[in-house]
Amino acid sequence: MLHKIINLTVRDVRFPTSLEQHGSDAMHTDPDYSAAYVVLDTDSGLKGFGLTFTLGRGTEIVVCAVNALAGLVVGKSLQEIVSDFRMFYRLLTSDGQMRWLGPEKGVIHLATAAVLNAVWDLWARAEDKPLWKLLVDMDPRQIVSCIDFRYISDALTEDEALDILVKAQEGRQQREDQMLKEGYPAYTTSCAWLGYSDQQLKQLCTDALKSGWTKFKVKVGADLEDDIRRCRLIRQMIGPNNTLMIDANQRWDVAEAISWVSKLAEVKPLWIEEPTSPDDILGHATISKALAPLGIGVATGEQCHNRVMFKQLLQASALQFVQIDSCRLGSVNENLAVLLMAHKFGVPVCPHAGGVGLCELVQHLILFDYICVSANLSNRMCEYVDHLHEHFTSPVVIQDAHYMPPKDPGYSCEMLESSVKRHQYPEGDVWKLHQKK
Ligand SMILES: [Mg+2]
Repeated sequence: MLHKIINLTVRDVRFPTSLEQHGSDAMHTDPDYSAAYVVLDTDSGLKGFGLTFTLGRGTEIVVCAVNALAGLVVGKSLQEIVSDFRMFYRLLTSDGQMRWLGPEKGVIHLATAAVLNAVWDLWARAEDKPLWKLLVDMDPRQIVSCIDFRYISDALTEDEALDILVKAQEGRQQREDQMLKEGYPAYTTSCAWLGYSDQQLKQLCTDALKSGWTKFKVKVGADLEDDIRRCRLIRQMIGPNNTLMIDANQRWDVAEAISWVSKLAEVKPLWIEEPTSPDDILGHATISKALAPLGIGVATGEQCHNRVMFKQLLQASALQFVQIDSCRLGSVNENLAVLLMAHKFGVPVCPHAGGVGLCELVQHLILFDYICVSANLSNRMCEYVDHLHEHFTSPVVIQDAHYMPPKDPGYSCEMLESSVKRHQYPEGDVWKLHQKK
């Protein structure tokens, strides 16, 4: 079946998470986890669901950008798109007039991700497989044909990408079986948002330890004395052998990052995430070099623009950990490119997740990474945040701090229609209620 796309709808869906300080960090003090939520209708009745994550205000701008892209999608069939996915990717990212808005960065990039995520969801549903399984079963040549190598071929050629995928075919079945049995290791960020009190932090940490969590991330960067106190508290709670990571969400200048993190070295963080502007490649390299003797790595990625920035961060040896993101970094197509580049440069991938729907999405990509690219779990884990999963038709399944591979067809980002209606901004009941208060 061709599955001709006959309609695209996009809605502004917002959850009032700022009321309880969920998601608060040094730069984003009051996020309302939100999404531009896309549904593709086809003439066969099959639908594709996609989203891109936002923090509340401004989601209407992403919705507007998705609508601007709709004309490039509606009227095409799924078959037509996936038979030359690289060209379709370019059609969306290199439209002769709209590329001025990016290219491949900012609002238009977020909008492109929502649309492409919906196309991938549609493809997986048409094949009756979860997205990770669609990717795992795909011929390496077809995987490579989904990636746009323009601008990155000086770091990774098409032949090199193919070679990585072909080599990783060995042992693929065992790794798939292992994932189905054990799941992919996760870490939690739910215990230590910046806006949480020490009491809340202690309670959440105790609960998480009881549920089997061994890897924890703490938000830092607003106040040094406060960070030292909170990080010591967490280190005390989790003991010397569990893993601790810290995340500054772009709060510092380069020199400030080095001195601040040096003062937190006593709590032995594995990495400092987003120490400075995500655009500052040389700054990341400087920080990474300065912190290496302390045994602290640098991680960035959730707000990294695109595959070109990743290429440069890898080329500059500015990263010890790569954090892909299922929306901000863009589509599956772009994430595939980054997974392969990270492998070539020998840097482990530890995906960013959380927000609304990001855990649901990114679990598919990291399963593919383990089974078909890295074949390695050393120093690798996927972020997990315990919010808003109840709004999805196929929410993530966590067992003993591992992501269990999703079984339902698609990319796991279909929301319950009742949740979408209640949280649609500004007309949903949840928002009408807030306006009355
Ligand atoms: Mg982060």
